[in-house]
Amino acid sequence: MSKASTAAPSPNALPSYLDAGNLGPWGIYLQQVDRVTPYLGHLSRWVETLKRPKRALIVDVPIHLDDGTVAHYEGYRVQHNTSRGPGKGGVRFHQDVTLSEVMALSAWMSIKNAAVNVPYGGAKGGIRVDPRTLSRGELERVTRRYTSEIGIIIGPNKDIPAPDVNTDGQIMAWMMDTYSMNQGSTATGVVTGKPIDLGGSLGRVEATGRGVFTVGMEAAKHIGLDVSQARVAVQGFGNVGGTAAKLFAETGARVVAVQDHGGTIYREAGLNVPELLRHVAEHRTVAGFEGAETLKTDQFWDVECDILIPAALEAQINKDNAGRIKARMVIEGANGPTTPEADDILKERNILVLPDVIANAGGVTVSYFEWVQDFSSFFWDEEEINARLVRIMRAAFASIWQVAQDHQVTLRTATFIVACKRILHTRELRGLYP
Ligand code: NAD
Repeated sequence: MSKASTAAPSPNALPSYLDAGNLGPWGIYLQQVDRVTPYLGHLSRWVETLKRPKRALIVDVPIHLDDGTVAHYEGYRVQHNTSRGPGKGGVRFHQDVTLSEVMALSAWMSIKNAAVNVPYGGAKGGIRVDPRTLSRGELERVTRRYTSEIGIIIGPNKDIPAPDVNTDGQIMAWMMDTYSMNQGSTATGVVTGKPIDLGGSLGRVEATGRGVFTVGMEAAKHIGLDVSQARVAVQGFGNVGGTAAKLFAETGARVVAVQDHGGTIYREAGLNVPELLRHVAEHRTVAGFEGAETLKTDQFWDVECDILIPAALEAQINKDNAGRIKARMVIEGANGPTTPEADDILKERNILVLPDVIANAGGVTVSYFEWVQDFSSFFWDEEEINARLVRIMRAAFASIWQVAQDHQVTLRTATFIVACKRILHTRELRGLYP
């Protein structure tokens, strides 16, 4: 019987599990790498390393539901690169998670960790599940089974998960416990973002928002923006957006508009952010906040402001709204909030974008502190943590700003240049095994 022959793939062909016609978020990441390759000098010979994940694990996560039936969920853990150290990156529970998305997020973690120079590679995980449909018991069983399935590739020296969308300190506690039970000893360093009583770090909850604020303040100096007089609009008022809004308001800036999943509110004189945080803690949304006007969802993008902070979801700033944005500066608290087309529009309009890969790196920086504290079993006070965080963020931002000036490129491209060079330099030093 004759067998139809297919051409052998070229050595640098796309991995077979990717559909070249529909690369999704991974395709966006590949475009970003292509954009910086001309700036990598002799290291560009290693660039293919960045264009494929080192390891991608797909797992079946079966659990007993409370009604006695069995449900199967699809889970992933992707280690994009480990040249600079163990993999590091969060775990997302969301019904729309895909392998392409987890791959892209794992790659962006490689870039982010190298940009702030913490000794990690990049990784990410996810489960295709809507956690709001699960009881607490079901959520715990999904978390534990997933942790057990990916247990063969994670560990304090191999790959260290953390919280991301819809995962929190309790889920990290279950992950830590499951891994520890399988190992036979307590391994607090296997995840970060844990509750303080289980080896978590002070300052971790606010770290990402504090990083957003720190790079925003540094950039403002460069563009001559007086933050104490600035108007700020924030999309997403959770961990990242809520903290960033609070810190900007404390400098005297007016937080004029806030949008979350429940609504959009506006007050020209500035919203009372501590009161708004209390309102959200009680009502779970900014909607209905006393003394504020309500805007239609889409009107958020027309708000007159100096600083815009997208801190909710991906692809919020796109070709349809980028032309309407009034801000002088966009600080990306969320991961991937700006599409590549919107990035080009903002650049053309001279609106400075502080990209996610540096702007929201405060979270992983304090995760690194948590991991170091767990290894030494010696815990620092919050003042020391915040001071170290600010030092690292300022230094990272300064070097990226300089590269952007030197090459006349955007801060996103500059961050990729700095990070890719660091990763590929270690790749070159280590050489290829065998
Ligand atoms: P969170 O769950 O605490 O808050 C998310 C916020 O987004 C909520 O206010 C929610 O109402 C709002 N939101 C959801 N859907 C929305 C919609 N359709 N329109 C407007 N607002 C909407 O999450 P978080 O931890 O603050 O994370 C926000 C983003 O920051 C995510 O992209 C995440 O990946 C990224 N990030 C978080 C961290 C961290 O340490 N938490 C670190 C790096 C990056």
